[in-house]
Amino acid sequence: MSVFESRDFDGHEQVVFCHDRATGLRAIIAVHDTRLGPALGGCRMYPYAGSEEALRDVLRLARGMTFKSALAGLPLGGGKAVIMGDPFHDKSEALMRAMGRCIDRLGGRYIGAEDSGTGVTDLKQMAAETAHVAGVRERRTADGRLRDGDPSPYTAHGVFAGIRAAVRHALGTDSLEGVRVAIQGLGNVGSHLAAELHAAGARLTVADPVAERLAAAVEAYGAEAVGLEEIYAAPAEVFAPCALGAVINDATVERLAARIVAGGANNQIDEPRHGEALRARGILYAPDFAINAGGIIDIWYERAEGDEAEEMAKIEGIGATLEDIFREAEASGLTTAEVAERLAERRLDAAARGKGASAAA
Ligand code: NAD
Repeated sequence: MSVFESRDFDGHEQVVFCHDRATGLRAIIAVHDTRLGPALGGCRMYPYAGSEEALRDVLRLARGMTFKSALAGLPLGGGKAVIMGDPFHDKSEALMRAMGRCIDRLGGRYIGAEDSGTGVTDLKQMAAETAHVAGVRERRTADGRLRDGDPSPYTAHGVFAGIRAAVRHALGTDSLEGVRVAIQGLGNVGSHLAAELHAAGARLTVADPVAERLAAAVEAYGAEAVGLEEIYAAPAEVFAPCALGAVINDATVERLAARIVAGGANNQIDEPRHGEALRARGILYAPDFAINAGGIIDIWYERAEGDEAEEMAKIEGIGATLEDIFREAEASGLTTAEVAERLAERRLDAAARGKGASAAA
């Protein structure tokens, strides 16, 4: 296996393989780009089949974080970490502390946060060894509530703002009243999204392998529950992937019934040609790294001890960013994902030029 020859290598600044003899920790940290600031990204724990699979995942995810933070206008770069192991069987405090030490050795170039397979407890254990983890501090909200570092409700709120923008663009209405949204996955993000959509008058179709989560949505929101394969073709205006990556693929793209794809999952499009296929079918796609930035915005505000009202305005600004992307895609004939990447790259280049200029001064 080679990093430089991997098809997911994209000029990453640094890729670090970590091992801890005492705990057996095997992890990879990828720092993709630090032109805008330190590389902040989740630390995922997953039972990868091998280090090649783990490397592919971390390279792809780190690159996605660069674009996500740049588009969200945050002073952050892109990075990601993966721990090879089963979060249900292999987790221990010693393992998490060993991961914390690995992160610490990067001296702040990478800042870890929670991701699939890790949560606030794990991050707190890492924080015993390093200051370079985020999403661990309890905060008081403006209405006096004590909240933990879980960014999921904020990711969901950004997705909600993005769905509003997409509905306005594709269906020409500001109201979600009666608009049907098919949500794939009712986990941390999907469940909060369902609550917000229901409160705004949307009708819901839902799929999740966990029966209790489905039953809760049927009970609370009158949602229609469908099978895991049925959700793609379920009649709805919006398809909101909130579970897995690569769900827009050869097997699904022609079956989609919705006019809009807008959800919280990372890496929704399997290959760029599937983005083209959506466009050819007249389906508006809200690029994942643009619409699901609410969580990273929340983590940044926690770290910077920023103002909550300003944070919410920035999360809701995801809607305006998407409207710009939709308009530019229409005008240029590019896919929305291509436009979003170009917009992020323009911001990265501008930042790099700014730094160059100040270094020369
Ligand atoms: P989660 O694990 O809490 O939820 C995922 C849900 O999907 C679970 O309820 C699971 O049972 C369900 N699921 C699994 N396979 C499914 C299938 N085939 N069909 C339908 N449902 C299925 O994860 P999460 O934190 O809600 O994140 C969801 C997605 O959003 C992931 O892709 C994640 O990377 C992305 N994301 C999350 C955040 C965040 O703040 N949590 C931020 C950005 C992106």
